[in-house]
Amino acid sequence: MADEVTMDKIVSLCRRRGFVFPSSEIYGGLGSTFDYGHYGVLVKNNIRQRWLEAMVYERDDIVLIDSAIILNPRVWEASGHVEGFTDPLVDCRTCKLRFRADKLEDSQCGRKPSKRPGEFSECALTEPRQFNLMFETTVGPVAEEGARAFLRPETAQGIFINFKNVLQLARRRPPFGIAQVGKSFRNEITPGNFLFRVREFEQMEMEFFVPPADSERWYRYWIDARVDWYAKYGLRRSRLRVREHGPEERSHYSQGTSDIEYDYPIGWSELEGVANRGDYDLTRHTEFSGTELEYVGPEGAERYVPHVIEPAVSIERIFVAMLVDAYDEEEVAGRERTVLRLHPAIAPVKAAVLPLVAKDSAMVEKARGLYEELRGSHVVEYDEGGAIGRRYRRQDEIGTPFAFTVDEQTLADDTVTIRDRDSLAQERLAIGQVAARLGDELRRPWATPKASSA
Ligand code: ATP
Repeated sequence: MADEVTMDKIVSLCRRRGFVFPSSEIYGGLGSTFDYGHYGVLVKNNIRQRWLEAMVYERDDIVLIDSAIILNPRVWEASGHVEGFTDPLVDCRTCKLRFRADKLEDSQCGRKPSKRPGEFSECALTEPRQFNLMFETTVGPVAEEGARAFLRPETAQGIFINFKNVLQLARRRPPFGIAQVGKSFRNEITPGNFLFRVREFEQMEMEFFVPPADSERWYRYWIDARVDWYAKYGLRRSRLRVREHGPEERSHYSQGTSDIEYDYPIGWSELEGVANRGDYDLTRHTEFSGTELEYVGPEGAERYVPHVIEPAVSIERIFVAMLVDAYDEEEVAGRERTVLRLHPAIAPVKAAVLPLVAKDSAMVEKARGLYEELRGSHVVEYDEGGAIGRRYRRQDEIGTPFAFTVDEQTLADDTVTIRDRDSLAQERLAIGQVAARLGDELRRPWATPKASSA
């Protein structure tokens, strides 16, 4: 299919327009590590902000926390990560590469022409051995045994160990949640597929503490709520599905796990996980720390260890899904255009302000005046460089939903054109109405014009 959205197209657009580039490039890079440029940071900020609105600001029952990245190493013993946060690893003695034993089907051998590991007669794969994904570091100047610590592989444990603080200080009773956004680190054996699997990523996790008898209901509630959030921010429902893990696939702590999957260019893959963690974490931390982590009702009449429902996702996986879903190529008046049909609330720049003729100082003055008015409320961009068609195409590629153009007529009657990224419709409106109109447009519910099958 000519207009298939491939990961290569997304990577190339991200690079061309300065969303994301390979990290440490001037030193030859560092495999599967990326840096975000201006537009990439703006998109990440928008994703985080939309998540915080839905999970915290628009609710009464969830509070925030920001825990340390390096925690007491006992935390990871209690959580089961020291012992069990492993992937099975195989080495190839011939090509010296390493693969995840459970993902050989998706891996490629280093030799040419590339095949699955084990498919050449010369392949010499070792037996799988367990490889712990936690990054180790040393706290303090002496690399002695007692100083060994880990970079957190998930933000969740920083929440559980603060359960008592929140219960007491935020005066909460179940059902209530604690949300955290922050970097997590995993020494993935085979990172790749752009940002889909990286070693350093920004997780958004929320632990929702509920009375044990209500856990199944809340588990279902959070699966639905999270799918609806993706649909609200533009992902096509035809590209989303919920896949429930079978008992053999579940993590050691889980009483039920569902992956919200997106149909990435690499096929259906986990976008977000929603897990019913039962009372595993609070019980283990009670055992290991000696601090009772339980809910005690008024007068001590009620006492129980809450069960936990956890929606967990990384900004990176949402970023890729949203770009893939938004990417579109079409022919307009005999010319190809690439457009990112991002939800306006996710788009890095909300509007562009463009003087038609950069050399016309009256137009420039009007356009700059409008730009300065709008930027008080939104991220907007002023651009006077190059032919107007090229400037529109640039804004299309970064997903700017609206452009306001100041032209000859503006100087006569103080009206500008508004151009819609998706429909390409243009109409005139008074320059004094632009701010209100942009605000209205950005508040409106939005659905992608892309076909559900595209
Ligand atoms: P996978 O099976 O893909 O390795 P996982 O089941 O180990 O993922 P979880 O431990 O459930 O992942 O992590 C919760 C969420 O964190 C995932 O749904 C995903 O959005 C994100 N995530 C996990 N690992 C990575 C990674 N290496 N890069 C980017 N995001 C990640």
